[in-house]
Formats: sequence, C-alpha cells, structure tokens
Amino acid sequence: MTTAPSDVSAHAARVVTPELVASLTRDVPGSGRTACHSPLTGARLAELPAVTEAETDAVFDRARAAQRTWAARSPRARAAVLLRFHDLLLRRQDEVLDLVQLETGKARLHAHEEVQAVCQAARHYGRTAPAHLRPRRHPGVVPLLTRVRELRHPKGVIGHISPWNYPLELSAGDALPALAAGNAVVMKPDTETALTALWARRLAVEAGLPSAVWQIVLGDGPVVGPWLVARADYVTFTGSTRTGREVARAAAGRLIGASLELGGKNALLVLADADIDRAAEGAVRACFSSAGQLCVSAERIHVHRDVADAFTDRLAARTRALRIGPALAYGTDLGSLASRAQFDAVRRHIDDALAHGATVVAGGRPRPDLGPYFHEPTILADVRPPMLVCEEETFGPVVSVHRFTDEDDAIERANSGPYGLNASVWSRDARRARRVAARLRTGTVNINEGYAAAYGSVRAPMGGMGDSGLGRRHGAEGLLKYTESQTVAQQRLVPLAPAFGLDDRRYAALLTRSLKALKTLRFR
Ligand code: NAD
Repeated sequence: MTTAPSDVSAHAARVVTPELVASLTRDVPGSGRTACHSPLTGARLAELPAVTEAETDAVFDRARAAQRTWAARSPRARAAVLLRFHDLLLRRQDEVLDLVQLETGKARLHAHEEVQAVCQAARHYGRTAPAHLRPRRHPGVVPLLTRVRELRHPKGVIGHISPWNYPLELSAGDALPALAAGNAVVMKPDTETALTALWARRLAVEAGLPSAVWQIVLGDGPVVGPWLVARADYVTFTGSTRTGREVARAAAGRLIGASLELGGKNALLVLADADIDRAAEGAVRACFSSAGQLCVSAERIHVHRDVADAFTDRLAARTRALRIGPALAYGTDLGSLASRAQFDAVRRHIDDALAHGATVVAGGRPRPDLGPYFHEPTILADVRPPMLVCEEETFGPVVSVHRFTDEDDAIERANSGPYGLNASVWSRDARRARRVAARLRTGTVNINEGYAAAYGSVRAPMGGMGDSGLGRRHGAEGLLKYTESQTVAQQRLVPLAPAFGLDDRRYAALLTRSLKALKTLRFR
C-alpha cells in the first residue's frame, strides 16, 4: 500500500492543525521560534517556541516548586496517574500514531511499538512504584538495638534529553518512572519530533499530573541541552555516544548522576542449528524496524558458514518482499528515514562499503519516488574493516552478513568493537543459546527474537555496556535511579561506645567476641 505525497500533506494538515499546536504549546515557554518537519514530505509541520536561558531558569524554578507538592503526594496517588495515563494512551492511540508517523516517517506498526512500550512502562511502574519506594527495614549494627530504615527520596528535578527515533517511548516511557518517584521532569525532546512529546505531556496532565511537574523546553540541542544539565539534579539522556560523553562530562563536573542510553552496533548470531526460516524472518524485523533507526536493531549478522548461503537467500527474499511506503495506516513494512542527515549517513556508509569491495545482496538504492528520504532495506556482503559500515553505527536500514566458523569465533566477532547494547542469538538448542548469551558483552540478549523480547520485558533492566551507555531503564533500577537513598539508624538502650564500666580494652574484646558470634550465626 502506498500513499501519494499529496495525500500525506493533506493528512498532515488535518492532523497538525493550528488549534492542536496552540493547545500543545499553551504553557510551553519560549520567546524564540523553531520548527518541526515531516520526513514523509520534507515540509514544515509546525512552528514551535524555543527557549532562552533565562526562560529555562524560570522553567526550573516552577518545576522545583511544583515538585515539592508532587512529592508530598503518596506514591500510590502518583502511581494512579500512570495507570490513568496507560488507559488514556490505549484509548487515544490513533492521535499519537498519526503524530509519530508524520514526525518520524516510520511505518504505523513500528509507531505502535512505542504505544506498547509506554503502556508496559506505565502499567509496570503504576503497579510497582509504591513497593519500590516503601521504606525498607534492615537489621542494624547491634541486632535488635539498632533500628534501621532505608528511605527513598526523589532526586528533585530531572533533566531529560531525548532523540527523535522513538519520540513517544523515549519521552513518556522514561519520564513516567521519574514522575512516579516524586520528581519533576524538565524535558528537551528533539525539536523534529516535539509534537509527539508535547502530546504525551498533555495526556499526562489529562491523567491528573500537575502541569508544572512535567515541562518541555525546545530549541537547538547543543545549546538548550547543556542548560538542562547545568540545572538538573539528575540527567536521563538518550542519544548518540558522542553527545552522551559531553553530557557525562558536564554532569561529572556538577557531581550529579546521569543515565546514558547510547548507540550500538548490535550483532545477530545465527548458530548452525538455528531454524533458518524463523531466523531470517526475525532478522528482517531486527534489522529494519523503524527503518533501522532503532538503538537495539541489528546491523551485523554473523551466521555459521554451514547455513550461511541458505540463511542469506531467505533473508534476501524476505527483505525484497517488504512493502515500503508512506502510508499513514497499517499495511506497510517500512517507512522513511527520519531526516536528510539520516539519509546522507546511510548513503555514506553504503557508498563507502561498495567503493571498498562490499557487494549488495538486496536493496541498496534510494526510493525518491516514495518521498525525499526513503531508502531500500539493504543487505551487504564482503564487508570488512575499515569500511565505515563495519566500524560505525549506521542507524538505518543497512545490515552486513558475515560468516563464522564456530561458537568461539561467533562470540569474538559479536564482542568486537566498543559498543555493548543488544544482541540476538538464534538456535534450536535453548541451553546452548543461553550459554552463548552469557558470554556476550551486551546489556540485553534476545534468544530467537531480535530485540522485542528483552525490551518489552520491563520488569528486567535494559541498557548498554561499554560505549553504549551507563545505567539502565526498566526494572527496579529504572525507577530507583531517580531516587536518593537515605539510611536512618536509631540506636536504642546502649551506646556504640564503652559503657557500663567497661574500659576500652574490655569493650574491644566484647566487640571481637560479638563479631565472631555474628559470623557463626550467619548474620548477614
Ligand atoms: P544526538 O546525541 O544527536 O541527540 C540526542 C538529544 O541530545 C537530542 O535531543 C539533541 O538535541 C540533544 N543534544 C544535542 N547536543 C547536545 C549537547 N551538547 N548536550 C545535551 N544535549 C544535546 O542523538 P540522535 O541522533 O538524536 O539519536 C540517535 C542516537 O541515539 C543513536 O546513536 C542511537 O543509537 C541512540 N539511541 C540510543 C537508545 C538507547 O536506548 N540506548 C535509544 C534511542 C536512540
């Protein structure tokens, strides 16, 4: 199914009305102007406010004041907002699916992945935040006589910086646990996908969130981003490794924490005993979802030499069969790249690879007939260092296929390079696949699936090793990182010092006996 560019423009005009933009930006400060565009047509979608530094100060002042009142609400009351947000999002998903498609150019099913991911996070933290935040009792230094409580306090105001590739998931999905923990959030989404983030924030307000507790500022990333890092109590950043390092340096200078979800060069391993048909089908999803502009998508396939030809044939056939187009409805398998910059990066990697001896197995060409930044999903073979596609994240619909000889070779290849975000292992032998998974240096590993099994399992942490990041989203850590722990220890009856006539020597001897007893009693 394809849609003519004129249909997309007409649809965009119906969806992004002046009334919608006015409603989304009503309380978004900014005396400057910026704009977002649709990659489906290249045309401007909306003009938006851009903040000055003084306006950013005022945003943080308002957020700090609002955070105190928000944190005074019970964790259960805060969590209830997440659960209402969940229901509203499911009910109103078509509104945001249109915005995500118009702003990113991705296929509707890939936009729906964002709805799924945010609902998972809203439900999970809506149900578990009160338990995560409950004061915990610990045995004290003197059992029974030292009463210890571990409290969790919100950090304060979280600076939240997000990219354009998953604008709903990487705005709302990461903000919800911060809000549940009692923080305020000042967010800087990528301007090109700001409407989606603004829509999500308005939905949270409709779900009962005080509007000053989640504020959005817009403007040039290298200018406005550092303003957030300079004022926040903690930073949650998703984006490139290059920018992540800058954010980390600035956060370190202020001694504030930061979680950094960064880039990857993810490997998909097809072991000799894999179900080749399922592996090829899964690899297509793993490589080309959101046109490969997905942090956990596979850009390298390492396949056992015994099955390499059969697997590559099936992968190529499935890739050629993908339906590409700008439809603002379900029914296409691949959308557009999100910008001229992404399109150029993809072309640079393909052209460089071909100039240095790589060969095209499938795809390889732009599709200007569909829209300015459409590109065929592309499989390359004969890729080797120092080709750019071999060493750098492409972040587009390009994958290279390599052969390996045995398990050790596969693991060594997968672990090569500085990144460590996600990996995928395909095998009929579950124990073998788990053994391989444990030797991979990545924050998540999916067995017989590309990325969705680990990413969607929100009770477990997700994040990167090495150059792919610091910290985790999801799981307990995905919420507790937005808190400070505080230990309150109350000493009862006896002081922690010589007393009752004991001199120092006898007191030390008593403690020595006590320490031995605690160990013997298996006290932890
Ligand atoms: P980017 O680093 O260019 O931008 C990310 C965000 O940072 C944007 O909002 C941008 O405006 C802002 N920014 C730019 N300069 C800044 C600065 N100096 N200080 C603070 N903020 C600044 O990344 P991008 O191109 O928008 O996103 C693509 C990258 O994001 C890819 O590398 C991808 O792998 C990564 N990513 C990672 C994950 C993950 O979970 N690990 C998820 C999605 C995307």
